[in-house]
Amino acid sequence: MTRIAIIGAGLSGLVLAHRLKARASVTVFEKSRGVSGRMSTRYTERYQFDHGTQFFIARTNTFRSFLQPLIAQGVVARWDAAFVELNRGETISKRQWDENFPHYVAVPGMSHLGKYLLTDLDVRLRTRVAEIGTTDRGWLLLSATGDRLGEYDWVVSTVPPAQAGELLPTSFCHLPSLKKIKMVGCYALLLGMQSPIQLPWQAALVQDADISWISVNRSKPGRSGGFCLLVHATNAWSENHIEDDVDEVKKHLAQETSDLLGHDVTNADYCTVHRWRYANIEKQDGPVAYVDEERLLAACGDWCIQGRVEAAFTSATSLADRLGSLI
Ligand SMILES: Cc1cc2nc3c(=O)[nH]c(=O)nc-3n(C[C@H](O)[C@H](O)[C@H](O)COP(=O)(O)OP(=O)(O)OC[C@H]3O[C@@H](n4cnc5c(N)ncnc54)[C@H](O)[C@@H]3O)c2cc1C
Repeated sequence: MTRIAIIGAGLSGLVLAHRLKARASVTVFEKSRGVSGRMSTRYTERYQFDHGTQFFIARTNTFRSFLQPLIAQGVVARWDAAFVELNRGETISKRQWDENFPHYVAVPGMSHLGKYLLTDLDVRLRTRVAEIGTTDRGWLLLSATGDRLGEYDWVVSTVPPAQAGELLPTSFCHLPSLKKIKMVGCYALLLGMQSPIQLPWQAALVQDADISWISVNRSKPGRSGGFCLLVHATNAWSENHIEDDVDEVKKHLAQETSDLLGHDVTNADYCTVHRWRYANIEKQDGPVAYVDEERLLAACGDWCIQGRVEAAFTSATSLADRLGSLI
């Protein structure tokens, strides 16, 4: 059987592995202690936060068909949030999300979509691929401590393009294209409250502030824990402050949130910041996945198309189809 190494166990890596597992010997390497990448959920003693992806939408029939059994099993559900658009503190529009244009989340936390896909997959957690070398039997993957992670016929990277550019062999024919693709950062502010704040909405898109998004996390189906808010800074503000001291970032975003809500959250019971260095990317017009048939190297991920869950899925499934015809 063809041996395939997939680097990264976000949605792209897991969907790709899932689609290829019957036809190849697939191993997935993930540097974190859990799967799902940017579709993560953080659990604290009292609170639960989806601090990356907030919801996802299914525009294509292929993604809808993929979601169907997950919805039937309760792994994915509709989030019918009371949604508003705010300009500073003022509500400029509001609507109730419903079945006419479903907004989906994984249940009981966003990371559970990735966990669901784990069945029968060989996923090596806490394993950062640091180097890709060669032997006479194919590609040799090495960890940061120099451990041999195995030899493979194909290596597929699903990590953000800046990191793929550092990691993939210089012989990869698409390396120059990858190096030109830029993702932007995003800070998430995680706020847990002992007493709920009364808000007339559950999800807010914010304009004209350093913050772009606020949600009431437990308004999503199946969530547990106390009242908490998940705040995202704008990509522009995050990029301009990406190397700043995290305490300063936290202070600013908590103050900005307080001003927007008209409610002081600077003394929240739980307050922390997560920096997503490579969070988002605008619409791309290149290939949906990059394949080097001669070298047996490939790269895919949302960043080939746009910073969206459905884009990660589309990139991975199209690469799976392509590899399926090559192995
Ligand atoms: C703050 C934020 C908000 C978002 N909101 C939404 C939203 O509301 N709706 C929506 O549709 N999308 C949203 N997205 C985008 C969505 O999360 C992504 O499109 C999707 O999760 C991308 O999946 P992926 O598998 O392509 O990449 P990732 O999830 O980034 O997966 C890459 C994986 O590779 C691993 N990795 C990296 N380097 C190595 C290495 N050297 N060795 C081993 N493993 C490695 C990483 O740990 C990660 O798990 C959001 C993203 C962020 C960050």
